[in-house]
Amino acid sequence: MYQPQLLPFKKGLKGISDKTVSIHHDKLYIGYVNKRNEIHNKLSEIEHNDPGKLDAANQTFSELRALKDGETFAVNGVYLHEYYFNSLGGTGTPVGSLATDLAKVYGSLDNFTRYFKACGMSARGWVVLGWDTHLGELRVYTGDAHNQGGVWGCIPIIVLDVYEHAYFIDYGADRKAYVEDFMVNLNWDAVNEVYEKVKAFNR
Ligand code: FE
Repeated sequence: MYQPQLLPFKKGLKGISDKTVSIHHDKLYIGYVNKRNEIHNKLSEIEHNDPGKLDAANQTFSELRALKDGETFAVNGVYLHEYYFNSLGGTGTPVGSLATDLAKVYGSLDNFTRYFKACGMSARGWVVLGWDTHLGELRVYTGDAHNQGGVWGCIPIIVLDVYEHAYFIDYGADRKAYVEDFMVNLNWDAVNEVYEKVKAFNR
């Protein structure tokens, strides 16, 4: 069974209320963990004890198809939220080789921030600054759902959730203000730690 991670920061973010963080972590994130575990159990049962359901596999509709489709939605829902919470709880003060390298790649850190925030306005679900192991480069990718738009071979470092549940209670329809505050609350120490771990890995 996958065990949910605790919230990695104390509440009290700038702009993003404790209520939003509680609902986001305790209800929505934990909900994805529970669904991930439920699906995992059903798939294990089919793999080990129900060959008839493997024989019935069908791309238009079958139980296996429904479970596999739900699996990527739930698992990515778990992982993306963990990267998202890991990105929060800081002061927004850039530190470490991640900040230095982003400034190199994008010309300046301001250029990166402007681009990342604009991606937050263009996506319907997720913005991911990741280490693209195929390119050996930092890249920003976006997705409209947990299992859409992701790039396999890219390891997430800074992840921004732009689903309305992440900001609507606090900002209404003003997503731009939420995205601004995400950067203000960015935990550069935490995301730099991820970068230090993954940047040596090239495919
Ligand atoms: Fe979310």
